[in-house]
Amino acid sequence: MAKPKPDVITCSECTQYNCHRHDKIYPNVCATTDLAADERAEIAALYAGDSLDGLINRVAAEVEGTYYCKINRIEETIAFARRIGAKLLGIATCVGLAAETKILVDILRTAGFSTRTAICKVGSIDKSEVGLAEELKIRPGFEASCNPVLQARVLNRHKTDLNIVMGLCVGHDSLFYRHSQAPVTTLVVKDRVLGHNPVAGLYTAKSYNRRLLDPDAMAKL
Ligand code: SF4
Repeated sequence: MAKPKPDVITCSECTQYNCHRHDKIYPNVCATTDLAADERAEIAALYAGDSLDGLINRVAAEVEGTYYCKINRIEETIAFARRIGAKLLGIATCVGLAAETKILVDILRTAGFSTRTAICKVGSIDKSEVGLAEELKIRPGFEASCNPVLQARVLNRHKTDLNIVMGLCVGHDSLFYRHSQAPVTTLVVKDRVLGHNPVAGLYTAKSYNRRLLDPDAMAKL
């Protein structure tokens, strides 16, 4: 099967990755060599400075460097939250992960945090009321729409320091990210078919999930 051609060359077409360790050469088209010196300096100053952006970036790197391949993502989330000074953690959970969220809450409380949770069905607005056709419901009758804007507002009202996404749907997560006032980190990405492990689709895109590289199959989505 012919590989689809890119319309623009960006980092996904790179074979050098010289930006990583300066051990190769930069390609002709490169987001690093295209960068104006003043923008590079401005971003470096942002990360080095006292803003929340700088703190988050440095702490993320500190957690990576301290615990590289030693702790799991739950533990990394705790290490990160503690180092940015977060005390009150918000959790935006899918109803389908309510049981896992209860376990997460126990873990976070054990680590000394307070938590506030907002479930995706909060507000209990029927899908019909937001314009969804009855046949697109999973089951007929009342079925609450996911409500990521209200999830964010609920956590905003609690003044959480950091919000954790637990398996929100594709797109509903986009809305939550847009409306959350606190920084957001994702613990679980929803994939109902791949056990919330979507990278498995990439690992198997040339074998069991080869439809992912089939233009006809992709055109139907
Ligand atoms: S920034 Fe340049 S070197 Fe780095 S991955 Fe992109 S194209 Fe390659």
